[in-house]
Amino acid sequence: MRIKILGCSGGVGPGLRTTSLLVDDAILVDAGTGVGDLSLAQMSRITDVLITHSHLDHVCGLAFIADNLFGLLDRPLRVHATPETLAALREHLFNWKLWPDFSALPDAEHPIVVFHPLEPGQARAVGAMTVTPFQVLHTVPAVGYLIDSGQGVFVFTGDTYADDRLWNFLNGQPRLDRLMIDVAFPDEDAELGRLSRHFTPGLLGQELAKLRHRPKLYLTHHKPGTERAIEQECLTALAGWDYSHLKRGDIIMS
Ligand SMILES: [Zn+2]
Ligand SMILES: [Zn+2]
Repeated sequence: MRIKILGCSGGVGPGLRTTSLLVDDAILVDAGTGVGDLSLAQMSRITDVLITHSHLDHVCGLAFIADNLFGLLDRPLRVHATPETLAALREHLFNWKLWPDFSALPDAEHPIVVFHPLEPGQARAVGAMTVTPFQVLHTVPAVGYLIDSGQGVFVFTGDTYADDRLWNFLNGQPRLDRLMIDVAFPDEDAELGRLSRHFTPGLLGQELAKLRHRPKLYLTHHKPGTERAIEQECLTALAGWDYSHLKRGDIIMS
């Protein structure tokens, strides 16, 4: 599979976009501001959207995709997320106040967006991929996704923090080739990381000792302005690991 990083920053700024990955041009994982760089033709090729959690930096693009594609698609866009995340999207985003309810437009029989609830631990076929959501620890109900192409296994944790459920799930997998994981703050902001449930380099380095696999690591969600400090701290915190700091536009083959 070919994973294009549309956005991987913890915020916005020149050249920075929030979380969104495009898998084989058809599956979007999270819909942050990174989707704003897609052409209408590229957007119209998306069949499925996997959402990790309800935070705005991961879902705001969904509102604009639905609006852009209105009247252009002859089939609905499938949006997969946990029941808790779907309830938050319905209640707080597609609620006719912040944005129209595109799950009932143009009419309830032929909506532009169809919500598909998923349960952590239950694999499902999405296009040519097998996708398994798994619970992670964040400030709102959140999942990561294991995506198995048959050739390789790629895992994206979404926003997360130290939690043995994460390592138990990953250790239970027969294979793990690539792991994209959140490192939002430098170590001096460890308390902010604890409160907002995001990793810092030191804590991630400690927690990774629990992982029995040795995947290539892709670090994401650095808060704007902290990139240099995080990169410096990872030199020691992640010594011995094969890792890279993701940049918008990067391609991961798995
Ligand atoms: Zn979040
Ligand atoms: Zn986030």
